[in-house]
Parts: sequence; structure tokens; C-alpha cells
Amino acid sequence: MIKRILVRCPSTAKLTPTGQTVEEDAWTETKLKAHKMSCPHCEQVHDWTKKDVVLAR
Ligand SMILES: [Zn+2]
Repeated sequence: MIKRILVRCPSTAKLTPTGQTVEEDAWTETKLKAHKMSCPHCEQVHDWTKKDVVLAR
């Protein structure tokens, strides 16, 4: 199943879609580098890595 990759904002704890998707079965094997996102909730730029990700339908 394809899941959307969401990242939790460290300031507001709200979830933000990254626009990326991943096959759920492959997720445990997926290696992610650090990414940045412009956060719509607090208007800062966050660094995020795999541990910050929440998968959603
Ligand atoms: Zn934020």
C-alpha cells in the first residue's frame, strides 16, 4: 500500500505532508537523508529525518 509521508512540526505538533509517498512494505528498508521543509504551521524551516516521519493513507 502506498502511504503519504507526513512530518510532525516540532513547534506545533501538527502534521505536514511532504508531498512524497512510499510503499509501506519498503519503508523499513528505506534510507532517508536529512530533508528540509518549509512549515506552514509555524513558518519556520525544519530539518527532518526518518524518525520524524508519520505515514498516512
Ligand atoms: Zn513547524
